[in-house]
Amino acid sequence: MRGKFNPWQMTLSQLDEVAREIDLDESIHQILRYPKRCLTVSIPIQMNNGKIKVFTGFRVQHNVTRGPAKGGIRYHPSVTLDEIKALAMLMTWKCAVVNIPYGGAKGGIVCEPRKLSLKEVERLTRRYISEIISFIGPERDIPAPDVNTNPQVMAWIMDTYSMDVGYSVPGVVTGKPISIGGSLGRNTATARGVMFTLMNAAKKLKLDLFEKTIAIQGYGNVGGNLAHLLSDEGYKIIAISDVEGGIYNPKGLDPIKVSLALKESGSVVGFKNADKITNQELLTVDCDVLVPAALENQIDEDNADKIKAKVIVEAANAPITPQADKILEGRGIFIIPDILANAGGVTVSYFEWVQGLQAYFWTEREVNLRLRDIMQKAFDKVYRICGERKVTMRKAAYILAIERVAEATRVRGLYP
Ligand code: GLU
Repeated sequence: MRGKFNPWQMTLSQLDEVAREIDLDESIHQILRYPKRCLTVSIPIQMNNGKIKVFTGFRVQHNVTRGPAKGGIRYHPSVTLDEIKALAMLMTWKCAVVNIPYGGAKGGIVCEPRKLSLKEVERLTRRYISEIISFIGPERDIPAPDVNTNPQVMAWIMDTYSMDVGYSVPGVVTGKPISIGGSLGRNTATARGVMFTLMNAAKKLKLDLFEKTIAIQGYGNVGGNLAHLLSDEGYKIIAISDVEGGIYNPKGLDPIKVSLALKESGSVVGFKNADKITNQELLTVDCDVLVPAALENQIDEDNADKIKAKVIVEAANAPITPQADKILEGRGIFIIPDILANAGGVTVSYFEWVQGLQAYFWTEREVNLRLRDIMQKAFDKVYRICGERKVTMRKAAYILAIERVAEATRVRGLYP
């Protein structure tokens, strides 16, 4: 929990609101309000100085009615069980919005990865996986990258699990390096999905994106790749930030040069040809499209009325609090919600899992075309519900997701 904000309460209240809206069966509503399984594990590892340090890790499986649990693992000092529960529930809805056969899960370790060596991160990852090993697997629960985890971490997960069972199991994790069964296009998939959704929205709203300015908060896997993809399309990015702060130039920023500065100085702030701004200032710069691509709880009731963008694309999970959501809705700002906007990552994770199970791999073109197709279908469905029921895009996405999960729950029935 960050400050007064509790992400689990937030996701519960969103579920409750939609349950009322669609007159959801009370028993199904109750089932969906609880995560199926919450694991808290202690992870003792030997640090480079020879001392033992014990970290805390979580894995939450919210729902597995539509298929195995699916969701990333994040390494961050402010990870809490409530945060992971919230993000696991969001994964259930996300997989249902894009209609891929998964339930939702999330994992995390409370740590500051920037203060750990590569070897320490490897030991942390392997011991964490060994603590949750009987609960994961290609048919049970399939982890993936999230904040501060990457293909190398996924490779250690795949290896730890495979060594335990005695043979290689590529399907246990997605976001792997290509050399051990990763999918082409997975690394840029979340960003590509965000871009497709923005383009779909622009078409519906009759916005000429070439005339618009874009600000991106966050320069990790999602924000960084997105900046490059948007710039390749010819769109103008005027502000970018990372954990150290941000840069702003109304004439436009070239992500190739920004990435170079990041490589040399460790932060995008090292880029010379722009004004320095803070992460908070980035959110309120004069722009047409704002893309929060960092962490949750960035736009709250304190800064919601200062936002100048007319379109917000939630590339991060839960970057807007429900209070801020209401303010932005009142101001007529068009918000593309996380469970739709950033679903490209888990969609290509699904492709990776399918390719691994079949041991038959696709070209990058095939991956990107199928991704575009799925994102387009999901966007059109959500947009249609939005018009028919006169609700926000967020509510429309929730309606679509909850109805799909509810139908699967109803038809399966209760065991025993
Ligand atoms: N961590 C990503 C997300 O929040 C991807 C999850 C996955 O690929 O399973 O959607």
